[in-house]
Amino acid sequence: MNLIETDVIRAFVRCCNDGWEQGWHERNGGNLTYRMTEAEVRECEPGFTRQGEWKELGVSAPNLGGESFISTGSGKYLRNVILDPQDSICIVELNEAGDRARIVWGLEKGGHPTSEFPSHIMNHSVKKEATGGAHRVIYHAHVPSVIALTFVLPVSAKAFTRVLWRSATECPVVFPEGVGQVPWMVPGGPEIAQATSEEMKHYNAVIWTHHGLFCSGTDFDDAFGLMHTIEKSADIYIRALSTGMDIKQTITDDNLRAIAEDFGVTLNEAFLD
Ligand code: 13P
Ligand code: ZN
Repeated sequence: MNLIETDVIRAFVRCCNDGWEQGWHERNGGNLTYRMTEAEVRECEPGFTRQGEWKELGVSAPNLGGESFISTGSGKYLRNVILDPQDSICIVELNEAGDRARIVWGLEKGGHPTSEFPSHIMNHSVKKEATGGAHRVIYHAHVPSVIALTFVLPVSAKAFTRVLWRSATECPVVFPEGVGQVPWMVPGGPEIAQATSEEMKHYNAVIWTHHGLFCSGTDFDDAFGLMHTIEKSADIYIRALSTGMDIKQTITDDNLRAIAEDFGVTLNEAFLD
């Protein structure tokens, strides 16, 4: 059975490649995971080998026990995923306790799921709970304009959200709850996983200071679209500042409230003045 022809693997591969084409994935930067539906697991199962070694995750997500995830491989280049999915990505199964995992397909020349798997799993756990199972995608990218702004804005979810909401009119509609932020931390371990998942209780996007962005979504379009919207808004703000001219006008708080009213979304009041 050739799993790379299934709709779910095709959609996963497309998302990796879209991010590469945006310039968000230098070298092995960034990673993607998807929580598979039971029907997708049933479809793919004939291609699984359940002989891999169970490995400790370093975090525990009991509400994900027994679930399967598609993940990019650690150290794998997202630009290569479209050329060689079998050796760039994998399917990983969690044990019933949700604290160990084994590879059941992919990474055919060896390897491990992304080093950020603990963060992905903790985020999936929080988002599964918070959305009644609707969210299935966690996407991490090294988006340059967002990263650049983490050097000039204070480390503050409010400050960042206000800049983003006011730099592109669609932003308050796409992420009315705002974006979270964690200070600079060592990537890849349980501490940053814990800190990110705390923010994910309130937001669908969390900035990793001087590193990148994590987005959660129902599907690849949703998560990719959120990443794209946030990065584009950050880019517009930087372009405006780069003219060296004064900002003459911007979207006001009253404008933001008017958009929210018309589009039927509830803005995070804590981020309005
Ligand atoms: P991986 O290659 O292990 O996915 O790491 C890339 C990355 O972006 C770390 O934050
Ligand atoms: Zn990264």
